[in-house]
This record gives sequence, C-alpha cells and structure tokens, in this order.
Amino acid sequence: MLQDFKNFLFPQLCACCETALLKDEKLICTFCRNELPLYPNFFDGDHDLHKILYGRVLLNQAASLFYFEKKGIVQNLIHDLKYKGNEGLSYHLGEWLGELLVASKWKIKIDVVLPVPLHKQRFRERGYNQVEGFGKAIAEKLSAIYNDTLLKRRSNSKTQVFKNRLARTEVVTNHFYVEGQAILSGKTILLVDDLVTTGATLEACYLALKTAGVDSLNIATIAVSK
Ligand SMILES: [Zn+2]
Repeated sequence: MLQDFKNFLFPQLCACCETALLKDEKLICTFCRNELPLYPNFFDGDHDLHKILYGRVLLNQAASLFYFEKKGIVQNLIHDLKYKGNEGLSYHLGEWLGELLVASKWKIKIDVVLPVPLHKQRFRERGYNQVEGFGKAIAEKLSAIYNDTLLKRRSNSKTQVFKNRLARTEVVTNHFYVEGQAILSGKTILLVDDLVTTGATLEACYLALKTAGVDSLNIATIAVSK
C-alpha cells in the first residue's frame, strides 16, 4: 500500500522512453521491450562482433543483447546506464543475456568474467562501473567467478580513436594491464563491455590478457553498433 502510494508520487520511469512504468513492468516498459532490437543468432558463429574483431582478437564465442543505432532506444538505455545511476538496469540486462546464453548453444565453460575497467576518474564521477551488474548477473547464470580487480586500466590513458589503425593500436596497447598474471593463465575468460563500436577497447584488453597467458577470449556486450 505504502509502495503504491510512493509509486504514485514518484513513478518509476522506463529506461528507454521515460513513460511511467505499470505495476508489473520492471525497468523497461512492455512497448519498449518489444521494440528493442535484439542482436540475432549470436550462437551461430560468424556475426558482426566476429567481423569487427576479425584479425585483432582471437575470439571463441561472442554475444550481444542488442544492436545499437544512433538516436534509437538502445541509446537511451545506455545513457540511463551511464549517467543516471541506474545500476539495477545493468544487472537486469545481464540476467537477460545470461538466460539467453544458457538456453543457447553457448557451451564453453567460462571460468572468470572480467568487466572492461573504467577510467579511475570516470569511476569517481559515476561511482560505479556500468557493466558491473551486467557482468555479475552473467557470471551467476554461467556459474563463473566475477572479478573486477585483475584487469586494470592505466589512469593516464585516454580513449583515442585514430583513423590509422596502426597508430591507434600503438596508443591503446598499453592502456590496460593485468595484475596477478599467473591467476588468469590457462583460464577461460568472458570479457564484458557495454557498447562495441570500433572494437579498439576490446582489442586493447585482449592484448593485456594475452600477456597474462590468456590465449583466446569470449566476449559479451550489451550492444553492438550497426
Ligand atoms: Zn518504454
């Protein structure tokens, strides 16, 4: 009763369209839930994520929940995740993809789920890593360990995208490093991120993980740019 009154005064809003949610709706309204562009058939092997990372990351399996289009509803969702402190949304999306992974032909046994780490300053401003809940929920669904202390981002690094791929690679290779290298050697890793556009961040993480003895990667993201 009190909860109903609270909801009447401060209605929970849909993370995509900001209309007030109905009682049974959770974080995303039914209309948007049906409109969200699900990333298709990620268990079939050769799809966009593989194409983006081809020749740059030795990839086992890769999955994404949505396609991302500028000004589309996934953009609102990612914005909510990053700038509105909507941590519950991150976990919710992880549960969603985790369930799809369990139901799919994704049969690789994952040992450790690692999130792409945030810049220290961003973390201070935001107070949370927007992929933390996403990674934790997937780890739970896959009975894997979630670890956000092994893969680190150097504090002085900036995300720079150069047109020349060689130059970009030189810049990003040492943005990330692994602490406690021996722990990851030979382990099956799932790296999680929010949005993949050029794949430069994932590539840089892969290079750091490679030096820590990780041969190939599995990747799960919230969205992939179309
Ligand atoms: Zn909505």
